[in-house]
Amino acid sequence: MTKKTVWEKTNGEERKKLFAFAEDYRRFLSVSKTERTLTANSIRMAEEAGFVPADSLKGAPKPGDRIYFVNRGKNICLYVIGKKPLTEGMNILGAHIDSPRSDLKQVPLYEKDGLALLDTHYYGGIKKYQWVARPMAMIGVVCLKDGSVIDINIGDHEGDPVVAYSDLLIHLAAEQMKKSGSEVVEGEQLDLLVGSIPAEGEEKEPVKKYILNLLKEKYGMEEDDFLSAEIEIVPAGEARNYGLDSSMIMGYGQDDKICAYASLRAILEMEVPERTSCCILVDKEEIGSVGNTGMQSRFFENTLIRLLDLCGQWSLRQVNEALTNSRMLSSDVSAAFDPLYPSVMDPKNAAFLGRGICFNKYTGARGKSGSSDASAEYVAKIRRVMDDNDVMFQTCEIGKVDAGGGGTIAYILADMNMDVIDAGICVLNMHAPYEISSKADLYEGWKAYTAFLKDMD
Ligand code: MN
Ligand code: MN
Repeated sequence: MTKKTVWEKTNGEERKKLFAFAEDYRRFLSVSKTERTLTANSIRMAEEAGFVPADSLKGAPKPGDRIYFVNRGKNICLYVIGKKPLTEGMNILGAHIDSPRSDLKQVPLYEKDGLALLDTHYYGGIKKYQWVARPMAMIGVVCLKDGSVIDINIGDHEGDPVVAYSDLLIHLAAEQMKKSGSEVVEGEQLDLLVGSIPAEGEEKEPVKKYILNLLKEKYGMEEDDFLSAEIEIVPAGEARNYGLDSSMIMGYGQDDKICAYASLRAILEMEVPERTSCCILVDKEEIGSVGNTGMQSRFFENTLIRLLDLCGQWSLRQVNEALTNSRMLSSDVSAAFDPLYPSVMDPKNAAFLGRGICFNKYTGARGKSGSSDASAEYVAKIRRVMDDNDVMFQTCEIGKVDAGGGGTIAYILADMNMDVIDAGICVLNMHAPYEISSKADLYEGWKAYTAFLKDMD
């Protein structure tokens, strides 16, 4: 354990490598704001790195084979087959790729007082007042009855318009400003202002009609097609270099796309590991890991069963052996110590920007409730692998006792009876429209994930 920072040991050529890695991440983050876009970009990178879709497999996979499985375009699982049989266990990296935001409701469009608006329902834990009066993009899909899927991506391209939730002017906000933080802006007030031109010759709701005409012309969609759409409202614009020294990154959705990216890079760069490497990128963590694309879905187990089946090892006993003998890093962001808000932290057990990957032995709230508590034996193994690979790490809790808390996907894999520990990169402003991370921690996280895939036994 050390209080030094990654910067102090990363000089010269290695520091250049650190900044280059962060620039790759910044670009990836800027175009991967939703679980669907992140999955699509991961597939592209995986194929460039020689991974093939699982459907193309014929016969038992061999050491060094690179395989990916995709679930409904929102969840991806990648494997690099190791020299040892799958039943001896895998080294698994898992991260989530959904982030807090708002989604369009199924019946979103309405006209009021000569303006057209789109109604939303927020997703995940947000301070709603942070999301108003800033440029937002609309990213997602509209699925038509004929089976076609229309991609929507408005607000992030050169020349695109943006949309926003309006806020009350300070001049008239005397009553609003007396409200508690959770009520200053309420969920039903998160409606996007999207239009103000009336359609010619239209008596009833002409401004709404103008928007509908536009949607018809641009995307071939009718109003009813919103019923089968998933459109996410996310901050518009690129992730940015942050700080006068550009040592950090500010961007939307770093929870948990920063860990997802570092994990993805680690597995894409694996060659022929001893134990099979696996990387799971899942959806729906922010609302409880539920649903068929969340970690609680059988999808991951089914990918393993498919691989075992190809090896002729399809019995329940063999599936259980493979899971029980696996080790996992549940990679999710941790809360970075904020010097402006020290009172919520125990500094001895807090994560600091720049001090490397954070291990949370346990998470949870109110007496570790809901936590998967990693065993001391497993933590000792993790320490050995990190030290052997010169990876700088810190240990932390999410805030001081009873200040709050949080959970991750760790407990779900632990339920499959494997060893799991939370291992993430710390961020400031977690769940705000723009979160801040340290480039040094990102780099060290990537090194930690690589060391784990290579050397954990
Ligand atoms: Mn998270
Ligand atoms: Mn979160």
